[in-house]
Amino acid sequence: QAKALGRNTFASFQPKMEAQALYRLSLEARLRAAVQNQELELYFQPKLHTREMRLIGFEALIRWHCPEHGIVSPGEFIPIAEQSDLILDIGEWVLNEACRQLVKWRELGHDQIGMAVNLSVKQIHQPNFIDSIAALMEEYQIPDGLLELEITESMVIDNIDTTIAVLEALRQMGVKVAIDDFGTGYSSLNYLRQLPADTLKIDQSFVAALHDSPSDLEIIKTIIAVAHTLNFMVIAEGVEDLKTLNILSEVNCDEVQGYLLSRPMPAELVESFLQPAHINRLYEALNS
Ligand code: C2E
Ligand code: MG
Ligand code: MG
Ligand code: MG
Repeated sequence: QAKALGRNTFASFQPKMEAQALYRLSLEARLRAAVQNQELELYFQPKLHTREMRLIGFEALIRWHCPEHGIVSPGEFIPIAEQSDLILDIGEWVLNEACRQLVKWRELGHDQIGMAVNLSVKQIHQPNFIDSIAALMEEYQIPDGLLELEITESMVIDNIDTTIAVLEALRQMGVKVAIDDFGTGYSSLNYLRQLPADTLKIDQSFVAALHDSPSDLEIIKTIIAVAHTLNFMVIAEGVEDLKTLNILSEVNCDEVQGYLLSRPMPAELVESFLQPAHINRLYEALNS
């Protein structure tokens, strides 16, 4: 670490920072056109109810097909979008697109499938946010409990009173609330017990090495115990292998999500993923 820092003297660091700033600027300019140019696409990743071995829904994850940079991951462009009002346009597009897909799957007969959508902090603090979600539920006729909105732990702590009011209003409308990346923020038990949320989503950093890290397992057990005491469901993200699934199921983790089930996939692939023959093969593989 010290050695790496030593190499990055101020003089050699400067041009790199400039290049990064330029990259950001060019990304931001391109991103502005992306919504209009239909360069954004939602991918979907399945979620499984652990005990019942049942598919419960999908999380929508945005992808950007940038003509200049290829596929850009949300980790790269969402933070840039969040620095301006761009995130509001993108967020609105995501919510509409996710609901449109959900309705399509419902029309194909998958009427128990839910949809989880990630939100940005700017979105939930818009004065018309609650109304816009109500309008969405109305427009797409989404039954209670099928739309879930994910906000990160750090978003909650930022502005706790407003956030609690917003989350409460959402839940009264039949929208579920999940706290994403849980364990990476700094929420105290005091915050946690006030939170109007349905689900805690354990961050994948606690899940990744679960099978050979006794301390990570203890952390996960503790999170699950606290969550269940406070009446939250628990979902683990980043589940990549059967061994991890089995451990999580042993410690009563309610739901799992990760590459083990599927990588996030475009909508066309979801339709074949949902075919009974495919689903049954998946359940068999997971039960083995
Ligand atoms: P997140 O909501 O915590 O999503 C989980 C991330 O982990 C996704 O990355 C997903 O592809 C990845 N992942 C899923 N299963 C596994 C696994 O088994 N192993 C590993 N190593 N990774 C796995 P992705 O799609 O790149 O998204 C990154 C983040 O970008 C998301 O984290 C979320 O915070 C944000 N994001 C994605 N879509 C949106 C969106 O529509 N709006 C907003 N505001 N943020 C979004
Ligand atoms: Mg998420
Ligand atoms: Mg997460
Ligand atoms: Mg994340």
